[in-house]
Amino acid sequence: MISHLRYQTLETVLSINSISKRYGKIQAVSNLSLEVKRGQVFGILGPNGSGKTTTLSVILDLIKSNSGTYQWFGTSPSKESRKRIGSVIESPNFFPYLSPVINLKIVADIKDIGYEDIDRVLKLTGLYERRNTRFKTFSFGMKQRLAVASALLGNPDVLILDEPTNGLDPQGIAHIRELILLVAGQGTTIIIASHLLDEIQKICSHVAVLSKGVKLFDGKVSEVLAISDSYELSAKNNELLNRLIKTHPEFQSMVQLPDKIQVYFKGQIDPEELNQFFLSGGVTLTHLAERRRSLEQHFLELLDNNK
Ligand code: ATP
Repeated sequence: MISHLRYQTLETVLSINSISKRYGKIQAVSNLSLEVKRGQVFGILGPNGSGKTTTLSVILDLIKSNSGTYQWFGTSPSKESRKRIGSVIESPNFFPYLSPVINLKIVADIKDIGYEDIDRVLKLTGLYERRNTRFKTFSFGMKQRLAVASALLGNPDVLILDEPTNGLDPQGIAHIRELILLVAGQGTTIIIASHLLDEIQKICSHVAVLSKGVKLFDGKVSEVLAISDSYELSAKNNELLNRLIKTHPEFQSMVQLPDKIQVYFKGQIDPEELNQFFLSGGVTLTHLAERRRSLEQHFLELLDNNK
């Protein structure tokens, strides 16, 4: 039994392979690769415009990417795999004069599933008592929970939420967070896009950080939160520096700052070794500074660089 459970936690639910999406001149997503495993609460964290919604729209087949592929449950996306995914991508939209029960019956008809799951999702989202009142009388928080209830109809294996607490008051935020943790506790894999670091820290087990469509780093929240190594570098020949750094075996990502670059490495890097690496590649560094940063500091820097 234990080995079976262990196998389940390792099962890949979603794999994204080098997806890129461009809208005219805007490169919304660049060469993005990600893996989400069963049981994870996976956060896609990034400031506004970093490509989160675009990524979710691609993997839900709402828009086509320009290049790259993705697989759900180890196979190419299909009608069958789509049925195993529930999502809330836009603000909740239901018939205002109809009750939650009738609205969910309409959703069930569209999804081509029976009505027997409606009571369960209403209870789960705390809306059962209000099941026969008109949708238009709901608070924004209740509307948002009904959207989650609708996504959970049919008990999908994966729940995808785009900025689930946007526009909610503190109580509404607390309700949604509790609900997400409750659903995750039942074994559903959850993928959440958010620009709120605090939200990701509170509810996610794993995170990928996006900036301007590029993944900067990803991993377990507990590990990414730990202090990680980064260096600020500059050289007379910055072009060569930029090219060379990408060939370093431990290179993870880089951010272009006004007069230098900030480079993140996968592991611990010795400054002397780094200096030597550049020297042997024909680059003399004019600046090398070790910077140890928490995720919070990384993220604040990202926001700054995105201004
Ligand atoms: P937000 O939280 O503000 O929605 P996001 O991280 O979800 O941000 P996206 O909505 O994916 O980011 O947008 C990424 C980039 O692509 C932005 O520069 C945005 O302006 C642009 N973009 C998104 N959708 C379109 C579209 N339909 N047409 C043109 N540009 C678009």
